Amino acid sequence: MTAVTAAKRPRVMSGMRPTGRLHIGHYFGVLTQWARYCRTADAYFEIADLHAYTTGFSDPQAIRDARNEMVIDWLAAGVDPGSSTFFLQSGIPEISELQVLLGMIAPVSWLERVPTYKGQIEALGQEIATYGFLGYPLLQLCDIAIFRGEEVPVGRDQAAHLEFGREVVRRFNYLYGGGEQILVEPKTMILEEAAEVPGTDGRKMSKSYNNAILLADDEATTTEKVRSMVTDPKKIRRNDPGNPEVCSVFALWKLVEPQHVAPVDRDCRSGVLGCVQDKGDLAEALNAYLKPIRERRALYAADTAQVERIIAEGTQRAREVARQTMINVRRAMRLL
Ligand code: SF4
Repeated sequence: MTAVTAAKRPRVMSGMRPTGRLHIGHYFGVLTQWARYCRTADAYFEIADLHAYTTGFSDPQAIRDARNEMVIDWLAAGVDPGSSTFFLQSGIPEISELQVLLGMIAPVSWLERVPTYKGQIEALGQEIATYGFLGYPLLQLCDIAIFRGEEVPVGRDQAAHLEFGREVVRRFNYLYGGGEQILVEPKTMILEEAAEVPGTDGRKMSKSYNNAILLADDEATTTEKVRSMVTDPKKIRRNDPGNPEVCSVFALWKLVEPQHVAPVDRDCRSGVLGCVQDKGDLAEALNAYLKPIRERRALYAADTAQVERIIAEGTQRAREVARQTMINVRRAMRLL
């Protein structure tokens, strides 16, 4: 991407915590959109390893191991590092410096009222109630503000983090900007509700529920997982009429092969189609869909030096932007 083209495109910033291998829920929900941003935006994709420490601080090796695997999944899914910037959060110390400085003006009460704070502590326990975890939305703001990110695609549950971030930026500019916008107020871009991808047990696909079909799974494992998927519980025998709307297999058809949805819907309801047959067909279609992704995955997995290089080069590019922002911030705060 030339600098001229990049300048015309909105700067979009997004990231993921390296906490394990990615699954087809990540693929359909996030990575397909990222691949699109590579063509339409000046996109920055963050390997959010510092964020991973907020809940995974007791297992640093797991975070280190997950880092390359996650990036291999991004690459396999078609996110193009040639027309975007992949960077490592901990490789840009300016992000942490900005967090310290913005921490001076971010009221604790603002952080405490971010809804996910209490919710996550209730879900994960008091062990994670650290200073770092409370500051999670501030660190998230720094990721964005350091690159002067204009648009931030987030799910609805993250919108409150961004609102907090905007308030902190306004406060910073008011206190130190002297009428200038030193930091850019990030705009929230609520992701159009990506179709929720059900896991094999019918709940939302998630590593923690152990119901995920991974991008790294081979064909046999995928077929096995599809065979174990829950379907309409009222369709017991092959010829019983079923209700596809309550069936996870049907939900995957919508993503994998939309042209197949109408016949499955018809034949399930009439009882012509049995679940064993339908699962076999879906496994075949899903494996065909994932084939090029798996082939790319295998190529990158065999060349970790290339993956490391992509991360290092992106981090270096991103750091140049971060350095410039910090010069402006330090100057505004009379720290030069
Ligand atoms: S026939 Fe297919 S869509 Fe209908 S319940 Fe069985 S698996 Fe689901």
